[in-house]
Amino acid sequence: MKIVIVENPRPLTVEHYNDVANAPLSASLNSGYALAVARRAGWDTAYLDFSSGSDDAAAIAARIRSEAADIVLFHWVYSWGHEERVRTVLELLRRENAASLGAFGLFPTLSRNRLLQFAPQLDFILAGEFEGTLAELLTLFVARRSITAQPGVALRDEKFVPRRLIADLSRLPVPDDVGANCDYPTLNIAASRGCYGTCSFCFIHRYYGCSSRRTRDVVSLERELETRLSRRDIKSLYFIDPTFIGQGDKERERVGAIGLMAARVGLPFGFETRVDSLDERLMTTLTGNGATSVFLGIESGSGSVLERIGKRISTEQIRRGVRIVRESGMRLNIGFIMFEPDTTLDELKENFSFLDGLGLLTDHDLTANLLYHNQIVLHGSAAWQRFEQEGRLLVEGHLPFEAGYRFRDERVGLVCKAMGRLTSEYFTRMAAIRRDGSGIGGGPANPGTPKLFSREEVNIILKEAFMAFCSAAENRLPQQFAVVENSCIVQLRSILA
Ligand code: SF4
Repeated sequence: MKIVIVENPRPLTVEHYNDVANAPLSASLNSGYALAVARRAGWDTAYLDFSSGSDDAAAIAARIRSEAADIVLFHWVYSWGHEERVRTVLELLRRENAASLGAFGLFPTLSRNRLLQFAPQLDFILAGEFEGTLAELLTLFVARRSITAQPGVALRDEKFVPRRLIADLSRLPVPDDVGANCDYPTLNIAASRGCYGTCSFCFIHRYYGCSSRRTRDVVSLERELETRLSRRDIKSLYFIDPTFIGQGDKERERVGAIGLMAARVGLPFGFETRVDSLDERLMTTLTGNGATSVFLGIESGSGSVLERIGKRISTEQIRRGVRIVRESGMRLNIGFIMFEPDTTLDELKENFSFLDGLGLLTDHDLTANLLYHNQIVLHGSAAWQRFEQEGRLLVEGHLPFEAGYRFRDERVGLVCKAMGRLTSEYFTRMAAIRRDGSGIGGGPANPGTPKLFSREEVNIILKEAFMAFCSAAENRLPQQFAVVENSCIVQLRSILA
């Protein structure tokens, strides 16, 4: 018996460059776990990655068919407008192939009913945490030669029964290293799953069906590390846990032990965590053991927004967290949603002052990111449901699984749109500059590419544009707003010409 795991085509476009897609990093291990589970169940496996390619549907279908698999399982991630191509692949497979067709992962979990309608060629969806479900499905398939009802499997005309979460994560097999992961010198690894947070925009608790966090023991982590480090040359580790540090002394001890493990293999590491999980002692210990970067999802600099999105942290805790990370010497990466859909103009300005006050708006790359992040609304999210009920959802026919929305304050929508245009210009031009190897930030250009620009000037124009858009929006004069918007774009173009 053979299963082929397929990554759907999802080339990134400039429009999606800077969207808060909320696709958790843990998704990067899904296919690796699926392959390992299938082999443990005695199946032959193949892996096909079409995620960044431009192959047409016929070529993709032919390649999949050539594997002659009994089950074709799509790790279907949001396709950024390429859904139709995936559906055509499924159609071709259905026509000329007897394999059972399925999908798994975050997106199929959250949108399972709509996806089964959108792609009637799909026989089943593995919804939620999938490893236990897949192992059982493969065993049953050997006996019955078809996909039948079982917990965790969504079938078109059957009532869906969720599967209980895996009680002991240490018993998971070591995931394969496949796909884009292998192009990076950093190894993604998971020391826990889930999060005790309930942030309204986040998919983690919706995917697992609860707000709890499960850890695995350090021995199993060490075993996995040993196996995976023997496969390729790795320069650093990244813990993809939604929140690497949990609560309580025992958890701090465990995280300390993981740091020691990283030190034993001599690899620097990074992780993501909540600001309320940080303390000076632990950060000093982790830095001493090789921790070099931390990602904090601070999301907003406004207390009212933090409350609205259910983040359960205060601006004071954020300041403290940022200070602790800086004092530890680790690199700080920030998650921020500037344009929360219910935000007011005053909250936008509060966000700006907060970020500026923390010294986070001093580098043009980070400034562009922080001053534009908006919240995109994906089908299956709480936001989709809410905006649909409130009549604020803006769906376009060619994007069936993502939507825009009307801001509560249309002036905020204006600022968001203008920042979107400005940052698209910025990202496009920066990508071109980086591609042709021009000198950046006044540094030396590569031979033959004399182009230089000032980091400071770019940073200043991004910041000034944001504040100018806020002021112009306040005045409610559309023509004046358009003049300010165009002038800022022209200025940015002239610096990055
Ligand atoms: S803290 Fe992070 S991972 Fe946890 S629910 Fe909030 S956004 Fe999601």
